[in-house]
Amino acid sequence: MILTGKTALVTGSTSGIGLAIARALAGAGARVMLNGFGEDAEIAALTQELGALHDGADLADPAAIAAMMARCADELGGPDILVNNAGIQHVAPVADFPPDKWDAIIAINLSAVFHTTRLALAGMKARGWGRVINTASAHSLVASPNKSAYVAAKHGVAGFTKALALETARDGITANCISPGYVWTPLVEKQIPDTMATRGLTRDEVINDVLLAAQPTKRFVTPEEVAGLALYLCGDAAGSITGANLSMDGGWTAQ
Ligand code: NAD
Repeated sequence: MILTGKTALVTGSTSGIGLAIARALAGAGARVMLNGFGEDAEIAALTQELGALHDGADLADPAAIAAMMARCADELGGPDILVNNAGIQHVAPVADFPPDKWDAIIAINLSAVFHTTRLALAGMKARGWGRVINTASAHSLVASPNKSAYVAAKHGVAGFTKALALETARDGITANCISPGYVWTPLVEKQIPDTMATRGLTRDEVINDVLLAAQPTKRFVTPEEVAGLALYLCGDAAGSITGANLSMDGGWTAQ
């Protein structure tokens, strides 16, 4: 298996895209550390399914991130592969955007990517191999109304990834973003009620006229499609892909 002997930390992997990536990496032989929130029984079932460890660090808390990274080094000897995937969303116009939601989105979607990465780099450099894969978004390239914090954070992740790629280009480390369009996960499902309220639309109108309106394929991206690209980026054939922001958005940002 292509990732036998490698270790992977996937943030936000108790749900959605992160869980699909964790499954793909574990299926290819990597030893995985999961991160994210959830019911104890669900997390226990996932760790058993994947033969994985779980660390429940709140990524809004840099001290908790540091503790998770130390555990990953002590208990797994890694990570060789760091997937910065955890993210949250809040939908409101700028003038009404709650400042605490702004701070949380910047902390979890952007600053946590810096904190995990800065603590993973020494080990990757020492081993002469590393993969940093950041789940950005079509919103790292284009904006939508009422998502200012998310758009700002994701544009930030794209910029951070480019700088990281340049700094690590001679170290056997690649750093890339995957930028999905709309993927059917709890994150998308949860923003439907707010969008219904903000725009005065029905559920079906939000799905078809707001979400899929941007996506020429008129279908949601699947978590497994994103996981397939993440797995590809871990392989030797992707060794020269670095600093890229890889769209997987059904043509959204081609328009
Ligand atoms: P999701 O809500 O299904 O999963 C989010 C994961 O992050 C969960 O495991 C959750 O427990 C974890 N998480 C949330 N806050 C956390 C915190 N403070 N500390 C630690 N973990 C935390 O979401 P998803 O749709 O799978 O999104 C995953 C990533 O993909 C996010 O970065 C999101 O912005 C991005 N993305 C999603 C879509 C989409 O349409 N679903 C599109 C583009 C990009």
